[in-house]
Amino acid sequence: MQIGINKIEELKALLSTPQRIVILSHTNPDGDAVGSSLAWAEVLQSEGHNVTCIVPNKYPYYLDFMPGCEGIINYKSDSEGRAEASVKGADIIFCLDFHTMSRLEGLSELIDSNQHAKRVLVDHHLDPNEDFDIMVSYPAASSTCYLVALLVEAMYGVERITSTMAENLFVGMMTDTGNFAFSSVTPDVFRVVSVLAGKGISIPDIHNFVYNSFSEGRARLFGYVINRKMKIFHNGTVAHMSITADEMRRFWFQQGDSEGFVNYPLTIKKMKMSAMFTEHSDFIRVSLRSRGNIDVNIFAQRYFHGGGHKNAAGGKSFKTMEETLKYYEECIKEYSKEGML
Ligand code: 5GP
Ligand code: MN
Repeated sequence: MQIGINKIEELKALLSTPQRIVILSHTNPDGDAVGSSLAWAEVLQSEGHNVTCIVPNKYPYYLDFMPGCEGIINYKSDSEGRAEASVKGADIIFCLDFHTMSRLEGLSELIDSNQHAKRVLVDHHLDPNEDFDIMVSYPAASSTCYLVALLVEAMYGVERITSTMAENLFVGMMTDTGNFAFSSVTPDVFRVVSVLAGKGISIPDIHNFVYNSFSEGRARLFGYVINRKMKIFHNGTVAHMSITADEMRRFWFQQGDSEGFVNYPLTIKKMKMSAMFTEHSDFIRVSLRSRGNIDVNIFAQRYFHGGGHKNAAGGKSFKTMEETLKYYEECIKEYSKEGML
């Protein structure tokens, strides 16, 4: 994959003199959101720009090792108004790894208060909103980190990728591809990985930080959810699981602890689609995964006010947990009747 030369030229022109830059990523930031923000921030800082990274809420604790992550402002706990000051004073706002302002939740109002900043999208989700001055939108790309790696190569040269940038980019490329196993993985993804590996990063260490650094509570919650809360229906092809607020308390739940649970039912042979519902204070978060041609992006848009990718999407439910699970089963019936499942 190559990023269009026009986009590269537009970005170079925009960044030709020092700018005040804000880099934003989505609610419940993941490895791709944090990795792409940090790597892009590092290269822009080295170019003399003033850069601030902001996320709407905290990223999971097992990403704490990512180089530079302590500098990211968490808007939800930003009592000193640093996010507000940075956004209001920004000349350019980069939006990384999301395609619609609704994924910023409360932070979107603050962004709207700055109408003079140029807005640039760098993202790999389907159907992005059109209200950006420059759109680096490649839904076929396996991760935003991959896109940032291509941008740095094209704009500044491969030699400008440092070992810390490489580490951050590798995290997002690894996590968004299910360890380089999804259909979005191309030969060029491995070319970029080879470049990153050549910068002296330790792939086993990164793997251990991301996948083997969870809490005891998370391991026990996982066993409980799979054993007690996984329902398999629709002739063994669809599953759902749920975690209530009470169960979260029982297992000392921390943000990110249920990450990846939704994939587990898809390890069962006939399984086509899986859903995880987690209870929050004013809504239920919906996480969806599918195999092959089953499109959970359309499903999330149609039934759960959300979206995402064909095989990984999410959204919200404003019903009770019990009603949500019942509703999900009805939606599955309808989706199946239409030949979508
Ligand atoms: P996850 O299940 O890991 O939280 O999310 C999987 C994918 O679904 C994300 O990469 C994102 O694209 C999408 N997604 C998750 N939640 C939402 C949501 O509330 N709205 C939209 N539009 N997309 C979401
Ligand atoms: Mn991503």
